[in-house]
Amino acid sequence: MPALELCLLVKDYFAHKYNLTDLVRTQEQDYPIQMLKLLVDGEAVGKLPCDGILATKVRSYFSRYRELFYKSKEKVLMRRRRPMERLVARADVIILPQVSHLEVMQLAHDQQAHVGHDQTVAYILQKFDWPGLHKDVARYINSCHVCQTSKFPKKRMKFPLKPLESGGPNELLQVDHLKLSTTEEGYQGVLMMVDHFSKYAVAKPYCVFYAKEKCQLVMDHWISE
Ligand SMILES: [Zn+2]
Repeated sequence: MPALELCLLVKDYFAHKYNLTDLVRTQEQDYPIQMLKLLVDGEAVGKLPCDGILATKVRSYFSRYRELFYKSKEKVLMRRRRPMERLVARADVIILPQVSHLEVMQLAHDQQAHVGHDQTVAYILQKFDWPGLHKDVARYINSCHVCQTSKFPKKRMKFPLKPLESGGPNELLQVDHLKLSTTEEGYQGVLMMVDHFSKYAVAKPYCVFYAKEKCQLVMDHWISE
């Protein structure tokens, strides 16, 4: 990624509070990123010099994107996107140091109307990633006071249920996600498409939890076929 583009990305996201030099410095001071760099540079032949939990987290993250990590010429550790991820965002992903995690999770969750886990992760992945991102976001949302108090009202409103009706094929398409553990190719789940009238079904794997990718799958494997 060109230096100017990278610089703009950092400025854009952090509202001009930080610059590229801050990012390089905080990455250099970040312990998990130091461990990750050892693996990227091929310098950790045996055990990583850190505790077991951190070592497992960093190794599992490294093995998921192994060949995609690189250091930009400004010495920022980044990773390229997998082909399916590029449907949503083309810019490479910055590996974000811990000191910025909270701020980014607040921007991605609190300022996006307290969206759920998958949407929060997807929002962050448009620009950033880090080892243990999914678990950190889950922990953050579980401790979010607004979510805990407003999303689960004690008395739920009840609405009358009505059966869905369709008069012919392709009149009503039912779409649902089936989330699975991530495969080696990077797929995270299956998108199910079922014609309500005929019950004809199509299932396609997806990589990222973005509406744009899901729409593309419906376009390619239902509407176009
Ligand atoms: Zn929340």
